[in-house]
Amino acid sequence: MNELDKIPVRQELSVAEGNVKRSNPLANVFDELVRFCQSRSMFMLHYCTGCGAIELPPAMTSRFDMERLGIQPMVTPRQADILLITGYVSVKTLKRIILTYEQMPSPKYVIGICSCTVNGGMYWQSYATAKVLKEYLPVDIYIAGCMPRPEAVISGLRDLMGDIKSGRADNWKRYFQNYDHYLGNQQKLFGEDWQTPTDIIAEAEHYGLMTDQTLGEHTALLQKHQQPLEALEFSLGEKREKIQGENPREKNNE
Ligand code: SF4
Repeated sequence: MNELDKIPVRQELSVAEGNVKRSNPLANVFDELVRFCQSRSMFMLHYCTGCGAIELPPAMTSRFDMERLGIQPMVTPRQADILLITGYVSVKTLKRIILTYEQMPSPKYVIGICSCTVNGGMYWQSYATAKVLKEYLPVDIYIAGCMPRPEAVISGLRDLMGDIKSGRADNWKRYFQNYDHYLGNQQKLFGEDWQTPTDIIAEAEHYGLMTDQTLGEHTALLQKHQQPLEALEFSLGEKREKIQGENPREKNNE
């Protein structure tokens, strides 16, 4: 039995505070305005994981026209607000999804499209598929179906807009507040040396979201295995010489 098998994964606690009203009425008006603007200008990360992704082109183009709601695709996680998981998630893909999610700026939202994200769907018995997405990331909205139609996708996005506007969409805080729980599930799936380049504990401190559930035995295991990121060795000169050595025509032309 290795070290990881001896550590149970903690239960997730509901510790998100929700929409906190401030004492100054003007500050509350300002908060409402900010939330309204956030809900009407959302960038959705262009990242497709399964067959449900095929419903996105009709949702984005002229028939359903997602852009009229202020939602448009974005190619980089650094400027994205929504991460759409559009179907079954293999273990390999889930690693990339977690890397991507952690690089998005807060507040950020996750939508699980398709039954496969809820409980594994028709891949429930597959050894290579992560079954329940919310064990690894905080999911704001699930849109079930195999596969859900564009109307359902738009309806799910409108629900999320309503939650953002009213201040209920604060699941992104749960990732910081329950980090030991999410990391524990990730380690059980990927192995005890699993790590990402993002320092979630420092971010939790930055946002004032440290709780008793942020740190635990799994974060201790992470710190034990964590290696600083090292730059890859790369020399343009050496590479050029190597290419020229392999390509006699280019060598003769010089
Ligand atoms: S729910 Fe159906 S359509 Fe969606 S990813 Fe699973 S198998 Fe594909």
